[in-house]
Amino acid sequence: MRYAIISDIHGNLEALKKVLRSIKIHGVDEIICLGDIVGYGSDPNACVERIMKAEIKTVVGNHDYAAVDESIVSDFNDNAKLAIAWTRSILSRENLEFLACLPVRLKISDILMIHSSPSFPLEWNYILDPITALGEFGSFQEKIAFVGHSHRPVIFSSDGNEIVPTGETVYSLQEEIRYIINVGSVGQPRDFDQRASYGIFDTERLTFTLFRVEYKIKKTAAKIKNNGLPEFLAKRLFLGR
Ligand code: ZN
Repeated sequence: MRYAIISDIHGNLEALKKVLRSIKIHGVDEIICLGDIVGYGSDPNACVERIMKAEIKTVVGNHDYAAVDESIVSDFNDNAKLAIAWTRSILSRENLEFLACLPVRLKISDILMIHSSPSFPLEWNYILDPITALGEFGSFQEKIAFVGHSHRPVIFSSDGNEIVPTGETVYSLQEEIRYIINVGSVGQPRDFDQRASYGIFDTERLTFTLFRVEYKIKKTAAKIKNNGLPEFLAKRLFLGR
């Protein structure tokens, strides 16, 4: 099976469309989304509708959660708070219901899909270094956990290694090692590369490949400004941080 794994779309329709097109070209059996369909960006409804229409299995992210339940917004920074309040105000009832029903985790054969961390998925912790990653391997049984949340692509392995994957490089995974893999962000990359990020996992070949896709950032940034969202949210797209 070939799985495309996407994450952290954040209402960026231009990036999502380009990523779905790239996935179609590369050919996969199934697409999985690791959450944060909404928040920050100007097209939350259109992004939710694309995910629904393509029947992409999705786990809940903290922004999806906050769009439905205001109680976790206190942990957000000011820009994120403003954006999520705006997002909540324009999401259709049907789309809000879709977000409210997203599961916290998905298990597909020997793979775990989760937005933040396997240990406490609703505490929205980040896995940013090999030491934190090592502490997480005890909290899931599967060979691989795919995570999002940090918006930075990385492969942590159970032997303590860390690889920062570059686009289009095929990484061979080892039979006896377990992994925590972050596929980066479709709609708001934070690894100083402005291109949208996603990954393809091939279960037969046991390979992971990261892909980077260019999209019309100027168009996305203009929409963010025109909707009265914080300008910082538009600027950071160009910087990839
Ligand atoms: Zn996110």
